[in-house]
Amino acid sequence: MKRSIVWFKTDLRLNDNEVLFQAIAQSDEVIPIYCFDDAHFKTTEFGFKKTGNFRAQFLIESLIDLDKNLRAFGSGLIVVKGNPAIEICKLAQQFKVEKVFAKTEIAYEELLTQTKVENQLKKFNCHLETFASSTLYHPNDLPFSVKDTPNIFTDFRKIVERASTIRDIFPQPTQIKSPSIGSLNLPSLHELGLNDCVFDCRAAIEFKGGETEGNKRLNYYLSETHAIASYKETRNGMIGENYSSKFSAWLALGCLSPKIIYHAIKKYEAQYSSNESTYWLIFELLWRDFFVWMMSKYPVEFFKINGIKKTGFIFSKHNINLFERWKNGKTESDFINANMLELKLTGFMSNRGRQNVASYLCHDLKLDWRYGAAYFEEQLIDYDVSSNWCNWAYVAGVGNNPRGISIFNVEKQANDYDKNKSYRNLWLYNL
Ligand SMILES: Cc1cc2nc3c(=O)[nH]c(=O)nc-3n(C[C@H](O)[C@H](O)[C@H](O)COP(=O)(O)OP(=O)(O)OC[C@H]3O[C@@H](n4cnc5c(N)ncnc54)[C@H](O)[C@@H]3O)c2cc1C
Repeated sequence: MKRSIVWFKTDLRLNDNEVLFQAIAQSDEVIPIYCFDDAHFKTTEFGFKKTGNFRAQFLIESLIDLDKNLRAFGSGLIVVKGNPAIEICKLAQQFKVEKVFAKTEIAYEELLTQTKVENQLKKFNCHLETFASSTLYHPNDLPFSVKDTPNIFTDFRKIVERASTIRDIFPQPTQIKSPSIGSLNLPSLHELGLNDCVFDCRAAIEFKGGETEGNKRLNYYLSETHAIASYKETRNGMIGENYSSKFSAWLALGCLSPKIIYHAIKKYEAQYSSNESTYWLIFELLWRDFFVWMMSKYPVEFFKINGIKKTGFIFSKHNINLFERWKNGKTESDFINANMLELKLTGFMSNRGRQNVASYLCHDLKLDWRYGAAYFEEQLIDYDVSSNWCNWAYVAGVGNNPRGISIFNVEKQANDYDKNKSYRNLWLYNL
């Protein structure tokens, strides 16, 4: 009897999940597990929780959905809480497994955890096998090694689009053989040291975690509303559910994979028509891939004040008063304040808003950008280690911006993107 553990992390789906696919193919029985890593609920050196209420709530919903979907195929999800190196090894011994299958990590802390689990498992002759399952392009299909990945997005995109193809999706399993798995046992938000989320009816969208909801959103944005057909024109919007796809939260926890989205867009294009907008969403997914490879290339540097730049970039020191005003939407700019309130009250902010508030923190307030990134890490429902830290470094001028630094004129941006003040009125005066 060959038994394996499937260690779910930020790949909370059955469809297009190579980790699950390979585990089933190589084992007689699989044991799906999720470990609430205590480290993910600690306070960081910047003074923020690594995971805030909104993302934790979305995670819990995603795990409920994953368990339900696994049970439909005869399996279920075991949930543990603690240090993965200890908890996963305990389960590996308990179920006498030969292998643990998991997603490959690339960022510093995640890699460290992966290595600790791997080393601990080795002591019991158990092997950790990982698969790169979170990007649009598979790393083996890139025409360059990680260390030679171009540092400029356009160079990266042109080479990849010319030389690489996107793989098919891994089919959803038809049967999952597992030993008997008891009913799902999840920690509450309070047990995680967090509070209940209150839904703000002004939120752009009511995010609900899970693969089922991710697929619903995908169908809604494509064939139900055809919002995708005008994405390029609307993507800089700030109000409402359809100015952009809102796929980010489901992508961040792996309820959707970028390949699932890509193939759904291709199907949409074949059925209806392709245009600049349908391409542009794939273009944006390439930004996501780009930052994954950048994080892979510089797994430590993106968390340092000078980012990937060798020459120092001088920022003012952290100033708690100025920072708190930024965080709580009490700066001198009503445009920044409206965006920061949206983030605080909903866990989401548009891309336009994120660029502006980040630029304002770095270049107007001249604060250490890493505090902004750490606050986003706590607060964002769609927090993703590469997308967050690489975008922050980009705006701060210590990342992949080929122009060095681009400073946003927030007043001009407010006039261009919120001319009639509807966005500001929504968040500042419509309490
Ligand atoms: C300072 C800052 C921090 C950010 N932090 C995160 C983060 O933690 N997690 C996150 O997913 N995105 C982050 N982004 C990128 C972007 O703002 C969000 O992906 C986007 O706003 C999510 O909304 P959407 O899914 O409707 O995007 P859409 O416009 O519909 O884009 C579709 C998808 O493309 C990808 N994408 C789009 N823009 C970017 C980008 N600039 N970088 C990487 N991927 C992109 C996302 O996966 C997104 O879901 C950040 C941007 C900035 C400027």
